[in-house]
Amino acid sequence: MSKKIVVIGGGISGLSSAALLKNSGYEVILLEKNNELGGRGRIWKDKGFTFDMGPSWYMMPEVFENFFGLFGKKVSDYYNLLRLDSHYKVFFPDGNVFNISKDLDINVELFESVEKGAGDKLKKYLAKSRHTYETAMQDLVMLDYKNIFKYINVGFINSLLKLDPITSFSKSFHGYVSKYFRNPELQKIIEFTTVFLGGSPYNTPAFYNLITHADFNLGIYYPDGGINKFIQALSKLCSEVGVEVHTGEEVQHITVKDRKAISIETKNKSYPADIVLSSADYHFTETKLIDKNFRTYDDNYWSNKIMSPSAFNIYLGLNQKVSKLEHHNLYFDDSWEKSFKEVYNVHKWPDNPSYYVHVPSKTDPSVAPDGSEAVFILVPVAAGLEDDDTIREIMYEKVLSHFEGLVGQSIRDSIVTKRIFSHRDFNSSYNAFKGAAFGLAHTLGQTALFRPKNFSRKIKNLYYAGQYTNPGVGMPVCLLSSQITANLIKAEN
Ligand SMILES: Cc1cc2nc3c(=O)[nH]c(=O)nc-3n(C[C@H](O)[C@H](O)[C@H](O)COP(=O)(O)OP(=O)(O)OC[C@H]3O[C@@H](n4cnc5c(N)ncnc54)[C@H](O)[C@@H]3O)c2cc1C
Repeated sequence: MSKKIVVIGGGISGLSSAALLKNSGYEVILLEKNNELGGRGRIWKDKGFTFDMGPSWYMMPEVFENFFGLFGKKVSDYYNLLRLDSHYKVFFPDGNVFNISKDLDINVELFESVEKGAGDKLKKYLAKSRHTYETAMQDLVMLDYKNIFKYINVGFINSLLKLDPITSFSKSFHGYVSKYFRNPELQKIIEFTTVFLGGSPYNTPAFYNLITHADFNLGIYYPDGGINKFIQALSKLCSEVGVEVHTGEEVQHITVKDRKAISIETKNKSYPADIVLSSADYHFTETKLIDKNFRTYDDNYWSNKIMSPSAFNIYLGLNQKVSKLEHHNLYFDDSWEKSFKEVYNVHKWPDNPSYYVHVPSKTDPSVAPDGSEAVFILVPVAAGLEDDDTIREIMYEKVLSHFEGLVGQSIRDSIVTKRIFSHRDFNSSYNAFKGAAFGLAHTLGQTALFRPKNFSRKIKNLYYAGQYTNPGVGMPVCLLSSQITANLIKAEN
């Protein structure tokens, strides 16, 4: 009889792990606390508008293709993928506005027009970042670090050496980028992607220059109908392979006997298990679902971790078009460095926030009624802040007033629907530690083997997948973490 695996959590990692394991012959039950699947990738629908509540940048398309390929499927079996012509539009306080295109020559010209020589430097920078990306993906990313001595071999060391380790791991992303570009606005265009890694240009190591390859060379995509088409695809895949999925089923405890998880308890039911995989937030699983003596990481470990930001999210359905915006838009304030300090060092709400604006209705008429716009404004803010109605109102007013000035249009009178989602919602919706949106930041001390492990050291048959584990944050990266964990489970069970 095949072994029974219970997967906790029905976000990207839970769904993808469940499908992989079921396809490998295990009996798989997935339990999700919310009434819908997708976790941070859920949607919110209201008054004819559809909002992807979390991820909006679909990058590294080959990772998605490879994942569905493991089932003999293609992405196009589930959704139609569009490549965006305008990757994103960047607004600066001095009135400069830059459009980053899918066409590299246009971007090279743009960089050259801002700073003499920067066009050529962009090409050189991108050649390096391609090399870093390809080396990491080929040799370093898919490791479970169960036994690190297994990896300390000539091949592994060669791969590390190929990455120019002194620069990659000693310099900050900002330090690295500054060697190529002097103009602060060009630096910001390259550096903002560290936020995708839950970090800042100042605490993310130069090694992550690989993400610029994903941005400028591999492209920015959009599943026709919204990012949630990808969640629907994972959920369909689970049903095609035969995963038993239960929503509205919150796990309350993992029962352990002789250092083995034997069952999962929810409010009304006990699910026997031979193997357990948790894709819920790691801190929550360790501190709330298992008894203290079975934790791999103690309170001290968690209190020393550098968390990613939380996100102050504003979803707006507008009954007008906003002509100045593209699909992806970014505003970078002059107090950029101070804002990062407010997130990682001072831990306070930002005085002059930089922000991101997603307007999928620019590409996709299905997400808003005719003549309307679905707008999602995301402000990265420090994790762990007090999030009450008063501060929400202050932040909302601050951001909306600035946004109206940025787009040169009155927005308030055209709001048909509005929702704010921040720390307390991340906590209640996903059991997020400190309300963090993206889990752990990718600092040097929280990269690869230094991230929480994909397995428990105290409970023999408990495994983890998701954005807290290796390789880390983001939709494609979570697909990789699921594959690492599924492979480890198969190897050990
Ligand atoms: C605002 C925002 C914007 C983002 N933008 C991007 C982007 O543009 N591109 C990109 O690639 N990535 C982006 N990300 C990151 C990406 O969404 C995440 O890395 C990824 O979705 C994490 O998936 P996960 O499965 O690890 O975690 P989750 O999505 O959190 O899934 C965990 C699941 O476990 C469930 N759960 C928790 N506790 C229990 C319990 N006790 N019992 C049962 N179930 C439980 C939760 O409800 C949740 O569904 C963004 C994230 C956020 C929040």
